[in-house]
Amino acid sequence: MCGVFGVTNAENASKIAYLGLFALQHRGQESAGISTIDEEKLPHSFRNSGLVSDVFKEEELLKLKGKNAIGHVRYSTSGGNLGANIQPITARIGGVPVSLSHNGNIVNSEDLRQNLEKNGAILQGTADTELVLHLMARSTKETFIERLREAFEKLAGAFSLLILTPTHLYAVVDACGYRPLSLGQLPTEKGEKSSWVLSSETCAMDLVGAEFIRDIVPGEILSIDLATGHNESCYFNMSAFQSKNKQKAKCIFEHVYFARPDSLVWNIPAHDARFAMGEELAHISPVEADMVIAIPDSGVPMAMGYANASGIPFKIGLIRNHYVGRTFIEPTQNVRNFRVRLKLNPVRETVRGKRIIVIDDSIVRGTTSRKIIELLREAGAKEVHMRISSPPVKFPCFYGIDTPKRKELLAQHMTPKEMNEFLKSDSLEFLSEDSLLSVMNKFQNKNRYKVTNFFHEEKSESANGGWCTACFSGDYQDITAQKIACPENFGDKIA
Ligand code: SF4
Repeated sequence: MCGVFGVTNAENASKIAYLGLFALQHRGQESAGISTIDEEKLPHSFRNSGLVSDVFKEEELLKLKGKNAIGHVRYSTSGGNLGANIQPITARIGGVPVSLSHNGNIVNSEDLRQNLEKNGAILQGTADTELVLHLMARSTKETFIERLREAFEKLAGAFSLLILTPTHLYAVVDACGYRPLSLGQLPTEKGEKSSWVLSSETCAMDLVGAEFIRDIVPGEILSIDLATGHNESCYFNMSAFQSKNKQKAKCIFEHVYFARPDSLVWNIPAHDARFAMGEELAHISPVEADMVIAIPDSGVPMAMGYANASGIPFKIGLIRNHYVGRTFIEPTQNVRNFRVRLKLNPVRETVRGKRIIVIDDSIVRGTTSRKIIELLREAGAKEVHMRISSPPVKFPCFYGIDTPKRKELLAQHMTPKEMNEFLKSDSLEFLSEDSLLSVMNKFQNKNRYKVTNFFHEEKSESANGGWCTACFSGDYQDITAQKIACPENFGDKIA
């Protein structure tokens, strides 16, 4: 998972991009980078491994000249953490410098890489993003937009991209719309041309003082003229191998877990969505208890929602240490659950002797949940009832969220009853896929996209409201992902 941010026509563009990336830090902590275009149309770029605050000092930002910038924070889901994979990636296409920031994961990258290498391409990194630049460079189409279009129609999977050239900033979202990308505007003095902001999440717009305007819609290429601020959109087609159903597939996990709660994601407030998930969970799986606690951070609004609907008080029962980096010092063997305790510690006086409902966003491998339950019992909790605001995760994600292989997912091997025994909880209940979709679609029905494109005209909404739920159902949009995740359906062994 990654975060992208871009800004046009702004004094101190590099500093604004820095702040934008700072707000998007939760989307990727491995590396950060910013590319700018200066008044002479020359590119500048700085990128390195580490957190945004570690990578950039004032000195680096001052060297990134120009009023137009794009940035990137990275958590690698493709290609590993090599220096050459750090974004934005800059290359010359037809003599013109082009910088690219990518959020998502290109599912057919292996086939594309083999094809490009067979045809003489020399690739510097191992990630999928570089391939997009190669496809653009190899296009024989006349205009830049046509080249972009041709390249995108060869990609399967998730890509929300920012592309900076000396004349334009382009914002692109794949035709399924897996990852969010929002357009905003910085306030301008009378008579000044517009400063546009593009961001993976709106929390970054709040920090730089920009106003959210709209989301980039699936299949859209928005181009902003850097000289005039004028912007216009065109759309690209989804080819057959990109989607079997040709439907939107917004990642529902952005709302369950990934986005910051203060962001609007697809024009839905992430905090409110999580609160409503908690309320729904209370309606469908009530239990008698003394308090509701959350596994912080994403579990907090869900636990507040559960408490609100059930009338059981919400308490802070676990404290997260937000400053945990890597630690190599382990005390002694007898400090049990040390790794989990580093991050989360129970508030003993609150939980001792109490029947507790613990709200979490999801269960993936189950090892952390099991240890948290053990910590709560050690701290004196009388009963621990787990309530999960999403269905069991049974399948891996190929669209930019780093989930383990299918065989490592607890729900692949166990029923909810067996999971309850494994976790040693007193009870365990999940939000069903239907319940989760019904919560999200109540919000969505109030927020229809205002822009139409081929995709909306062809099929305005899919049956489930246009959400990807493949990690619960195994129903992937493209055949490549389906084949990797469920090889048994294609006559192969399970991955
Ligand atoms: S598979 Fe799951 S995590 Fe991945 S895009 Fe779909 S809903 Fe999101």
